[in-house]
Amino acid sequence: MFKKKRILVYGAGVSGLGVAEVLLEQGASVYIYDAKECILPEKLVLAINEANGKIIWGEGFEHIADNIDVMVLSPGIAQDKPEVLYAKKIGKPVVSEIEIAAILNPGKLIAITGTNGKTTTTTLVGEMLKSLPNKIAVGGNIGQALSKQAQTLTDASDILVAEISSFQLESIDKFKPNICAILNITPDHLDRHKTLECYIKTKARIFENQHDDDFLILNYEDEQLRQLGETADSNIYYFSSERVLEVGAFVNDAGHLIFKDRESTVDFGHKDSLQIFGKHNIENVLAAVIIAYISGVKVEDIKNTLHSFKGVEHRIEFVDSVNGVDYYNDSKATNPESTIKALEAFNQKVILLAGGYDKKTDLGLMMQIAKAKTNHLFLFGNAKERFAENALKYDVQNITIAASFEDAVNFASKIATKGDIVLLSPACSSYDRFKNYEQRGQYFKELVRNLLKK
Ligand code: ADP
Repeated sequence: MFKKKRILVYGAGVSGLGVAEVLLEQGASVYIYDAKECILPEKLVLAINEANGKIIWGEGFEHIADNIDVMVLSPGIAQDKPEVLYAKKIGKPVVSEIEIAAILNPGKLIAITGTNGKTTTTTLVGEMLKSLPNKIAVGGNIGQALSKQAQTLTDASDILVAEISSFQLESIDKFKPNICAILNITPDHLDRHKTLECYIKTKARIFENQHDDDFLILNYEDEQLRQLGETADSNIYYFSSERVLEVGAFVNDAGHLIFKDRESTVDFGHKDSLQIFGKHNIENVLAAVIIAYISGVKVEDIKNTLHSFKGVEHRIEFVDSVNGVDYYNDSKATNPESTIKALEAFNQKVILLAGGYDKKTDLGLMMQIAKAKTNHLFLFGNAKERFAENALKYDVQNITIAASFEDAVNFASKIATKGDIVLLSPACSSYDRFKNYEQRGQYFKELVRNLLKK
């Protein structure tokens, strides 16, 4: 299908380079373009040259674009980039990397999106589906490019489980999941999508090609998602962490996780038997349970995975207990909504460490909750002053502006006493100091482990 096609991949990140490799293997002539020069693996450079492709950094884009058949976008590349506008103007098809994945996928497609909870839910679904005899591949926004994962599948019964961000949905065409889920929609990435309305519309594209034999899973507690549900042709199942539904997944009055459809009611055990906690994780679990169940996973196998799943690293991850104080790493909480979820997940007040690169998000609700759920707030990074102003405004008690990330951790360990919880849940990106949230979380864990040695 891609043989001899001249394909320009715009963006030399993980997804861009991944799809470039895949397309080369498919016999395409691949051109890689990025505004900034990057170091590419030698093998890839050789393969591009052999296929008569080219690597272009910054200059010479238009000359190449005039001669291509298709342009493939990395998720990091926004629609309003001049190069994308130019390609469209001269009539070149522009598609997202996940579109290539969907074309190459011989099997079924499960796609999961939402502002928060994508990685947790996708990972959980991947784990649950492992008990099926079918071959399963998991990818997308997690780890490898989705197209690389799609290429590992060979059979119509294989299943590709995809974590999908709004960026990846911007340039789809025929991308059509057999099952998809939108977990929640809260304002995020508005620097790219401009308005909440545009952001919702982009998320809704995940089901735009679905028919009535496909499934759409939505959060009943999200009013916007209920409205979207009314516009879909798909078969809809809702989930709710707050009420009993007639059809769908929910927690019953006895605290059991239930899936109910017209024919049956299935009990997946008590929510307290889960190893991940917080209402938000119940929502992720309910969505995953529906997806796995309608994919044919046996109830016992779903239950076993629910009991053994410890969550994903950097998401309210238990690090260690030092002198009776429990330390949790929630470095992945890069927006206030995530931090709120983490604060709400604990039954007691916590010592919260927050701050980092300031995305200028609204902090009102987070500080209201921090007032009720923290007994000390340590702030660090370039957002610390604005966070402190907001914390004062909402009367949060005991605020300390730390000189550094290390100081925040050390001071917190000094004031914490037996039975306390210290939670790193920054509500900010990490870029002012770290390469990414993973590096920040790893470093936090290292600092906590050093406390053990003291
Ligand atoms: P994503 O891949 O969408 O970023 P993750 O599963 O990695 O989601 O979780 C990221 C953060 O979002 C976590 O720190 C967690 O506190 C919060 N979170 C996870 N699931 C949900 C959810 N269903 N609703 C709201 N917040 C959530």
